[in-house]
Amino acid sequence: MATQPTYSNTPFWHQIFDAPFKTLPLEELSQHLDVIVVGSGFTGLSAALTLARAGKSVAVIEANDLASGASSRNGGLLGPSFHKLGLAGLEKKFGRETADELLKESLRGFNWLLKFIETESIECDLKHCGRFRGALKEKHFSKMCQQAESLAAKLDYPIEIISKSQQHTEVGSDKYHGGVVYTKDASLHPAKLVNQLIERCQDAGVSFVSHAKVRDISQTYAGFKVQIEQRCVEASAVLIATNGYTGNLTRPLKKRILPIRSSMIATPPLPKELIDSVSPKQRSHGGTDRLVFYYRTSPDGQRLLFGGRALAYADKPDEYYHFLRKNMVSLFPQLQGVAISHAWSGLVAYSFDHIPHLGLNNGLYYAMGYCGSGVARANYLGHKIALKMLGENGDTVFDQFEFPTKALYNGHPWFMPAVLHWHSLADKLGL
Ligand SMILES: Cc1cc2nc3c(=O)[nH]c(=O)nc-3n(C[C@H](O)[C@H](O)[C@H](O)COP(=O)(O)OP(=O)(O)OC[C@H]3O[C@@H](n4cnc5c(N)ncnc54)[C@H](O)[C@@H]3O)c2cc1C
Repeated sequence: MATQPTYSNTPFWHQIFDAPFKTLPLEELSQHLDVIVVGSGFTGLSAALTLARAGKSVAVIEANDLASGASSRNGGLLGPSFHKLGLAGLEKKFGRETADELLKESLRGFNWLLKFIETESIECDLKHCGRFRGALKEKHFSKMCQQAESLAAKLDYPIEIISKSQQHTEVGSDKYHGGVVYTKDASLHPAKLVNQLIERCQDAGVSFVSHAKVRDISQTYAGFKVQIEQRCVEASAVLIATNGYTGNLTRPLKKRILPIRSSMIATPPLPKELIDSVSPKQRSHGGTDRLVFYYRTSPDGQRLLFGGRALAYADKPDEYYHFLRKNMVSLFPQLQGVAISHAWSGLVAYSFDHIPHLGLNNGLYYAMGYCGSGVARANYLGHKIALKMLGENGDTVFDQFEFPTKALYNGHPWFMPAVLHWHSLADKLGL
């Protein structure tokens, strides 16, 4: 009889949350605040910190445990997250000047977070490990080399081209046809970053209320009436920082976001030779697959963390456990007998134009739509939207784009499982 796999459904990163964060009982929250931030991920925390340090009274309201959304569940892969169209695609769509600006802004966001971590002395296992991106088809290899070379020439973002014959120095898989190393990419421990952002916010006077859902927001003469569970408080301004968890509270924003489930598995500590056989330089990794698989070692270098899009919208750990494990072993047959200690998931937010968006919608500030690459973007744009709220220079190149929606789309991505299954099939068929 086959034995059921046993794994924890708690993110591997949450091991550090040994004590619950100190939050305020809802009834003790001030009746009037300068700013209410809805959502306690990177966007909300980064914005709250900037606002509080500028002297504003700020409360962050979180429907669940503090920072329990994507920000403490992600892979911790950190890079500029250049647009998926690449340089040529961006130039075709937006023209050369805008394309250049978009790429530079992505790099600025990445550099901003690195600087922030350094200036604030945040200990989050930041590692300048570089990222290897493997080509799953021979035709992908030449295309990715061209793209990477033009990016490297345009921006100060060095790359190394790795041929198939050299790739075992980067990755222990025969599935790739060479790849590119983005030498400046990094990795970090997302929950440690979240943890310390919360501490910095608390030191700056931000109030936190957890397990309290914001249920309604209405505009008043003086600002906003915000209904948090059964209680109403007033705020001069409100920031919506709900990204993949954007719901009916803000229907116009929900209609602009495609929430997609991303999932991860972690192995138990593995023998050093086995880890070395997968990731000899302990870089972060990904490939050219449409379904977007990514992997890295844990900060102590002992486990493999492997992630990818879940095919279902609902949280179905048994499904993504098997799906990810199968794909991991297909890349690395040497991991065939290895157990899985953790399997978890969270929601990311795609926008229809694959560009993050921030600004004002019906009087409410928002920043969201990081398209699955939000570690740098959410922190950077959380800071930028806060500057806008303060009337300071929060300009970004993203300001010029309308936040698009599609006719008849109501925020429920019923078609996504079919799209993701098609991507999975296309990967299998090598299309
Ligand atoms: C499994 C996974 C792996 C990922 N890997 C990477 C990676 O390696 N690199 C990378 O760059 N990005 C990665 N991402 C994406 C990245 O984590 C996100 O883009 C980023 O964390 C978004 O931050 P956020 O603050 O905007 O949203 P979140 O952190 O998702 O926070 C939104 C919060 O809003 C709260 N909320 C929603 N509605 C309400 C309400 N009405 N009232 C109160 N609270 C509410 C939610 O409960 C949630 O906590 C990954 C995401 C996932 C899920």
